[in-house]
Amino acid sequence: MSPTQRFLADAVLPVDEPGRILTPGAVDVVDGQITWVGATSEAPELNEVVEHRVGGLLMPGLVNVHCHSPMTLLRGIGEGLPLMRWLTEVMWPREAKLDADDVGWGMRLAAAELLTYGVTTTCEMYLWPDAVAQAASEAGLRSVVTPAVIDAPGWERFGSWEQQAYAAVEMASRYQGHPLIEVGIGLHSAYTVPVEGLELAAALAIENDLLLHIHVAESQNEDAGVREQHGVSVPQLLADRGVLDVKRVLAAHCVWMSDEDLDLFAANDVAVAHCPQSNAKIASGTARLADMISRGIRVGLGTDGPASNNNLNLWEELRLAPLMARLRDLDAQAISAPLALELATRRGADALGRQDIGSLQPGRQADMIRLDLDDLAFVPFTEAADLISHLVWSAGSRAVTDVWVGGAQVVANRACLTVDVAEARAQVNARASALAGGG
Ligand SMILES: [Zn+2]
Repeated sequence: MSPTQRFLADAVLPVDEPGRILTPGAVDVVDGQITWVGATSEAPELNEVVEHRVGGLLMPGLVNVHCHSPMTLLRGIGEGLPLMRWLTEVMWPREAKLDADDVGWGMRLAAAELLTYGVTTTCEMYLWPDAVAQAASEAGLRSVVTPAVIDAPGWERFGSWEQQAYAAVEMASRYQGHPLIEVGIGLHSAYTVPVEGLELAAALAIENDLLLHIHVAESQNEDAGVREQHGVSVPQLLADRGVLDVKRVLAAHCVWMSDEDLDLFAANDVAVAHCPQSNAKIASGTARLADMISRGIRVGLGTDGPASNNNLNLWEELRLAPLMARLRDLDAQAISAPLALELATRRGADALGRQDIGSLQPGRQADMIRLDLDDLAFVPFTEAADLISHLVWSAGSRAVTDVWVGGAQVVANRACLTVDVAEARAQVNARASALAGGG
């Protein structure tokens, strides 16, 4: 066994139980896994220990539960369009031209962006999923990659929805046991796949124990369209077609949800990826976050793709989620700062059905970030509880200096160590120009 790596910080926020802060604190890591967390004064005496005096604040890396990261290639286009026009007039025509190398470079650039913001896990739905997984893995970014299953113009080159679903299962088998990559099924939505496709994806997810990731009731149009075509809401259609029987369902957006729809999700233990910034930007609506939490629905936070956000800074969702929930319900206590922090970390991991990440606890992966407590946004500091309040409301990403995934350092002093950022920038610029020019 390798020697214990002991990280000593001025403060450790494990996000294991509400309000627990260790000042100063220590985190022990062996072979990338956490073995002990506690107050420095109580740290066990060990024969072989390598100390890392990192100072500052150590906390779990953020978990982004809904993203299409390679859309860095499409960032900034389609501005001002509502969801369906944005998809059909701008996104799908350009995505139809993307090749695997484009997607790989888009993902490399995104990985550097995510990691420097302190996001250590991302759940992805995109085309060319092998390129996504390979780029994420090379960057040391933990990812759940869910190959898209979709029947839309430009996607015929990946075969029918049926072939796409089987391809996801085949890819999942190849990545079984991978240290950083888990593969699920990215069933795009109820409006882009026929009902037989919903049934097949559900059956394959059950048979192979895969996470099923799907967009649900994102826009009012989607809700109205599915009701018109099928006579029921999107969640009810998914229930009728067996999708909610899958053990791990991750439903993104879920903006247009009735009480009955929320009850259906709670009864079937469906998790929600809440994307408040994307929903605000394309004017989809405001999801019922407080109502989801009070029903016991598992919820995490997602940036959504960088073409509808337009960055991968999950700290903005961490702040927007409570702000918009409070505005929606006119209740200043609707979502507390500690709860918002849980949504971006431990609860996000839980929404993915993952118990190995999301908090600093023995047995979990050492996915950690260090923040600079000298940042002015942490002043004044009068009691431990100030830390969480400052983290959520005033500091955020600008204080993130160092990042580790599975105990391996991927960001040092705000620089990503695992991606050639200059090359990724040049590649994405050149490829985006070619796409825009019809090349
Ligand atoms: Zn999405």
